Amino acid sequence: MSYSCPNCRSESVVHRHKGRNVGGITGGVAGTASGVAGATSGASTGMALGAVGGPVGIALGGFAGALLGGLAGGVTGTLAGSKIGEKLDEHILDDLECTNCGQTFRSDE
Ligand SMILES: [Zn+2]
Repeated sequence: MSYSCPNCRSESVVHRHKGRNVGGITGGVAGTASGVAGATSGASTGMALGAVGGPVGIALGGFAGALLGGLAGGVTGTLAGSKIGEKLDEHILDDLECTNCGQTFRSDE
């Protein structure tokens, strides 16, 4: 679908994705924070599993558990934040920008 600028009628219009980017970053930070909590429980689970393999197993298991827990939280948060931001883009923020005159506007207007 192509849009034209309501100000200058130019068709050089781009999507801004401002909400999605901000949402992704915010979600990533929040997700990483909750991932840290997951990392702690992941580490203790990993350490318990690794205990079978002795001290080296405990260290490796703890490391792997922490890594997976933190990573999962960060990725989940980024995805959730991006989705929320996308909705903001679609329904609240001006989601299109004219590259000719800099006017921002919404696609449904
Ligand atoms: Zn324009």
